[in-house]
Amino acid sequence: MTLVDPHPDRRWRHTYGAWADEVPLTGPDALPRDVVAASGPGFAIARRTHPLAGDYAVLDTGALQEALHHPAVTVHRGRVVGRAEGTAFLDGGERLAAPLVLDATGAAQVLSRSRRQVPRAAEQTAVGVVVPSSVAARVTGGRLVFMDWRPLHGHPGWPTFLYAIPLGGDDWLLEETSLARRPGLPLAELTERLRRRLVACGLEEGDIPLDDRTRVEHVRFAVDTPSHRPPAGVVPLGAAASLVHPATGYSLTRSLVIATRLADALATRPDHAARLDAAGRAVRSTAGRVVHAMRRRGLDVLLRMPPCEVPEFFERFFSLPAAAQRGYLGAHDDVANSMGAMLAVFRHLSPRLRGHLIAGSLLGAGRDHSGEDGY
Ligand SMILES: Cc1cc2nc3c(=O)[nH]c(=O)nc-3n(C[C@H](O)[C@H](O)[C@H](O)COP(=O)(O)OP(=O)(O)OC[C@H]3O[C@@H](n4cnc5c(N)ncnc54)[C@H](O)[C@@H]3O)c2cc1C
Repeated sequence: MTLVDPHPDRRWRHTYGAWADEVPLTGPDALPRDVVAASGPGFAIARRTHPLAGDYAVLDTGALQEALHHPAVTVHRGRVVGRAEGTAFLDGGERLAAPLVLDATGAAQVLSRSRRQVPRAAEQTAVGVVVPSSVAARVTGGRLVFMDWRPLHGHPGWPTFLYAIPLGGDDWLLEETSLARRPGLPLAELTERLRRRLVACGLEEGDIPLDDRTRVEHVRFAVDTPSHRPPAGVVPLGAAASLVHPATGYSLTRSLVIATRLADALATRPDHAARLDAAGRAVRSTAGRVVHAMRRRGLDVLLRMPPCEVPEFFERFFSLPAAAQRGYLGAHDDVANSMGAMLAVFRHLSPRLRGHLIAGSLLGAGRDHSGEDGY
C-alpha cells in the first residue's frame, strides 16, 4: 500500500475533539489511550446551562498522528493529479500503479469530484487562543464548555459561540466559533469577538495572547462537501466522501471507525471487483447516505434561521433527553434513530422555531452572504 502526501513530515496542529465514547480505544484497530489528552463532562450554555449528553474527549493530535503510522505503508512525497486505467499520475510526472485509490484529499476531492456544478460550500470558522488553566477558569469556572451562545462579545449579526476545552497539561483553548455560514464568517470578526468576549468575562488584554501565533488557532473548513459519484477505481474517504456532519463539522472519529470497516473490506474480499464494491459500501452505506441527506436539511435550517433565533434553538436542543441529542449528533448509519431525534427536536420547538425549521427544510438555505462582510 502506498500513501501519497505532499507533506508527509508536516506535524498536524489542529485541535480535535469528539464524544469520548466515539474514540476507538477498543476493538481491532484500538488507538493507544494516550491519543486522548483530556476527557470528562462538559456543558452547553444557551439561555440556561445544560450538562452535555455524554463525556467529551480532546485528542492529543501529535499522539494521534504517531499512532496512525504503519510500517507496511510506503510513503511517497507528492500530489496526485489524476488517475486513469489503473495508474495514478503525480504532479512531478511520476506514475504509480493504482488499481484502487482511496481519495482522502479532503474538501478538494481531487479524484472524486465529478463535473457536476455545486454551490459554494458552507464553512465553519473559528479563532482560538491557548491560555493557562487559571486564566480559562476565570471565563468558564473550570468547566469544559462545548458551546456558550451568550452574546458577551456584544456584536450584532451572525451568531457565534465560545468553545472552551482543556488541551492536557496546563493549557486550555478558548475559541470563538461560527458553526456554519456561506461563506464562513471572517476570521478578523471572530478575533475581535473573542477578544471582546474574554474582556467582558474579566480578562485583561495581557491575558489574551492573540498576537502570539504559537498560541492562536485559526479554523476554516467546509461542512458540506458535496457527494459526487466517483470514477471507477476511486473510493473517497473522510471529508472527500462527505463524512463531515453538516450541522457540527465533526468527522474525525467517524473516519477512524470507517477506516477499520474499509480495511476489512479490502482484506477479506476475493477479487478486485468485490473489493471495490465492498470498499464503497464500507465508507458510505445506504443508511449513511440517507442520514447524511437528512442532516443536510438540518444545515439548511440553521443557515436560513434568523440569527437572533439561533441561541433559542440550541436552548431547546440541549433541553432534549440525552438519547435524542446523541441521535442527532451521532448515529451516523442509523436512519430510525436519526429520524426519531429530528422529530424529537421538532416537537420540542416553539411554533415560531417550527416555522423556521419547515422553511429551511422546504426552501433550502437561503442567501449566500458573500459581499456582506462589512463587520
Ligand atoms: C482547525 C480545525 C479543527 C477541527 N476540529 C475538529 C474537531 O474537533 N472534531 C472533528 O471531528 N473535526 C474537526 N475539524 C474538521 C475535520 O477534522 C476535518 O474535516 C478533517 O481534517 C477532515 O479530514 P480529512 O483527512 O478527510 O481531510 P483533510 O484533513 O483536509 O486532509 C486532506 C489531506 O489531503 C492532502 N492532499 C490534498 N491534495 C492532495 C493531492 N492532490 N494529492 C495527495 N494529497 C493531497 C492534504 O495535504 C491533506 O493532508 C477541524 C478542522 C480544522 C481545520
